[in-house]
Amino acid sequence: MMRTRHYEFWPKRLPLSLIVPETSLCDNLAVSARRYPDKIAIHYYGGSVSYRRFQDEVEKLAGFLQIKLGVAPKDRILLFMQNSPQFMIAYYAILRASAVVVPMSPMHVTADLEFYINDCQATVAVVGQELYERIAPLQKSTHLQHVIIAAYCDYSSPDFDLEIPPEVGAARLTFGNTKAIYWNEAISGALEPGPSTVSQPDMALLPYTSGTTGIPKGCVHTHGTVNANTVGSAAWTSMTANTTSLTTLPLFHVTGMQHSMNAPIFAGGTMVLLTRWNRELAAALIERFGCTHWVNIATMVVDFLANPNLSKYNVKSLAFVGGGGAPLPEAVGEKLFQLLGVRYAEGYGLSETVSQTHFNPPDRPKLQCLGIPSFDVDARIVAPGTLEELGCGVAGEVVVNGPQVMKEYWNRPDETKKAFITIGGKQFFRTGDIAKYDEDGYFFMVDRIKRMINAAGFKVWPTEVESIMFKHPAIQQACVIGVMDPKRGETVKAYVILHEEERGKVTEQEIIEWTKDKMSSYKYPRSVQFVESLPVSASGKVLWRKLQEQERARAQEG
Ligand code: AMP
Repeated sequence: MMRTRHYEFWPKRLPLSLIVPETSLCDNLAVSARRYPDKIAIHYYGGSVSYRRFQDEVEKLAGFLQIKLGVAPKDRILLFMQNSPQFMIAYYAILRASAVVVPMSPMHVTADLEFYINDCQATVAVVGQELYERIAPLQKSTHLQHVIIAAYCDYSSPDFDLEIPPEVGAARLTFGNTKAIYWNEAISGALEPGPSTVSQPDMALLPYTSGTTGIPKGCVHTHGTVNANTVGSAAWTSMTANTTSLTTLPLFHVTGMQHSMNAPIFAGGTMVLLTRWNRELAAALIERFGCTHWVNIATMVVDFLANPNLSKYNVKSLAFVGGGGAPLPEAVGEKLFQLLGVRYAEGYGLSETVSQTHFNPPDRPKLQCLGIPSFDVDARIVAPGTLEELGCGVAGEVVVNGPQVMKEYWNRPDETKKAFITIGGKQFFRTGDIAKYDEDGYFFMVDRIKRMINAAGFKVWPTEVESIMFKHPAIQQACVIGVMDPKRGETVKAYVILHEEERGKVTEQEIIEWTKDKMSSYKYPRSVQFVESLPVSASGKVLWRKLQEQERARAQEG
């Protein structure tokens, strides 16, 4: 194969450059609130929040955090909520208070939260009411001092004529018995925060990931790194103040956070927000509000298109449909095109790059493709072993340099060191993904170096699942791998060796049941297979890749 070196053809293309404002991320909201104070920023199950109210409540909550709870600049604050107006208000209030948002998956169980609280030393958490019981025990066992609880129903309307999910419609908790502060109390004080002290280089966001080495760690993002991708997302997807975004992706994760919250807020657009995915409601709301943008994950598109009632709704207002985090099956992309006349624009990125480093050009996308490097991104392919740069059509590890790349891993200098390499005097982040690019400069995913399972966009690290499984008294050894799944793309399977004396006393199903409340629901093994031995290397390491390849070959045959 002819090897074209990266720099031989990139300079022939226009550099995709974008000027990012030097202001802080929370200024984006303040600017939209000044430009469009009476415009609806958020529609939420029959309720609505104007930009004026949004900004006003951000100020009040920021004042409460600073004055009543003593939050100081750079303090980390846990945001443990499902999608809701309060998630967005709290996110911007934390930034307005010059503190740092630590977004948590609403699927985390108490043990996960304990790890994160200890790791980032958060003293305050803002929590959805249905999640409170998972964090409450940690008010005693960690240094978490204050918890603010929000009831989502405060922002929805009981008169909403379509379906309201239980966690939104639920009756309020009785807050009297808890050590928590009720959201409405926190914002009713009308306390004024001090002037914002943050700018581009200051830390803004600490999303957790396991990166390439499987150890959970926080990615240190600044107002500058987050803003680079916020502005980049709005520009790439042609967002304006006329944009109406259907916001269905979870906001705690960087894809939803950037494309369905921060970018529409920057553009002064409107968000139609769902707490829980519901295909019927999504179609009805696209019609009702004339949604123009929908960033999603492949499984949502599959489900949306499978709705037998879809033809009842006019969804033709959608002008941009795209997503990232996992590949969209080609046939699904075609079906979407038949329905809307719009091509699915896939993107690629990581928590470490606070969402996209690659995006498909909306009017020239390729299917099953990560896209081309987005604004100001220099992406290269290197040989994983030698780190030698590879050319067109040759698969290797993707490494990226760009304004959205995190500064470092939180308090983990060794992990940070391993994650970066230098090429031509520039720092590149190692993604742990194997891809290649074609003659047009489009990147395609081939494999992964890192030991990670991508279950419908939710990332599962086998070593974490295995370490919990080892606590089961009957388990001698466990090896967790990703297997093909028609719905989730990949799903979690565990090969298990039982202690000899336990064989025949416990079933595969019992092991699955046991794992369910020990970890977030997307992580536990969907299948368990008992075996008497596992393939091992000369040094005794379990050859998980071999098991995975065997499974893939079997799936392709069958
Ligand atoms: P996270 O840090 O949770 O955002 O996960 C990042 C990982 O998701 C990447 O390293 C990839 O392995 C995977 N990923 C992101 N975008 C895509 C995509 N378009 N297709 C396939 N995998 C993707």
